[in-house]
Amino acid sequence: MIVELGPRVAVVPGGVNIGVLRGEGGRLVLVDTGLNETAAKKALKAAREEIGGEVAAILTTHAHADHFGGNAAVVRRTGARVYAPAFDDAILRYPLLQPASIYGGADPLDALRGRFLLAEASPVDDVVGPGPLTVEGIDLEVIPLTGHSPGQVGYLVDGVFFCADVVLPAAVLDKYKIPYLFSVTDHLRALAVASETPCRVAMPGHGPAVDSVAELVGQNRALLDAVGERVVALAAAPTTAEAVLAGLLTHFGAAAVDAPSFYLLQPTAFAFLSHLEREGRLRHEVRDGRAWWTAV
Ligand SMILES: [Zn+2]
Repeated sequence: MIVELGPRVAVVPGGVNIGVLRGEGGRLVLVDTGLNETAAKKALKAAREEIGGEVAAILTTHAHADHFGGNAAVVRRTGARVYAPAFDDAILRYPLLQPASIYGGADPLDALRGRFLLAEASPVDDVVGPGPLTVEGIDLEVIPLTGHSPGQVGYLVDGVFFCADVVLPAAVLDKYKIPYLFSVTDHLRALAVASETPCRVAMPGHGPAVDSVAELVGQNRALLDAVGERVVALAAAPTTAEAVLAGLLTHFGAAAVDAPSFYLLQPTAFAFLSHLEREGRLRHEVRDGRAWWTAV
């Protein structure tokens, strides 16, 4: 089940890939823990049986439930120390912030409290920022990849780049059509950072390992550009964010068939609107009790 990526680096492939690093004295370090207790137990079993040793630390890439939802279960079983990026650390500790943020900052609908949006809370022992970091005797580099989430980071260890969700594989892009984003402005920068990060193997959060992120960066970047251009086209005459979102869903064939899929794309549409306003491509004004967006 475990795939070796180097002498001290392995991965348990799954819905979310879980990294396993060999630290000093048989102490293991996980990179993310999966969606929930089931995913976490599977990773723990694989790490214990196929590598040997015990998990002493968790490196979280970002505060999306499918990546940190297993943290609490791992901590209960091992007492592992949790490392998480700044800002996202708040969501690990108060996971209701995630569904609340996509629901306009308010008490979210019960339909938005499912396991993909509302994870079990995780403790956070250390908040990490970009730069060198040593965990259980392993020297690694924390790579800033904000945009997909407010604080997302990647971890570079022994030439293996755990690049989280800065790039999504073609299969995921095909399924969701428009990927969730917190900030388009930051995400564009993160894509550039990811392509400039020297690595032997890149291990995205979803999908197979790749020799280089270049091709994935190109695909993800092209989709971003296409969505941005569509937003500007939709705002040829003054329009609302709601109409822009509906236009995007129709144009890209995104299946917003229930509350989670709809509300996840709402902040994504807003992320494009604020980016394009910042770039001088859209104008924002409040008039007649509505916010209007118009191409410049
Ligand atoms: Zn994510």
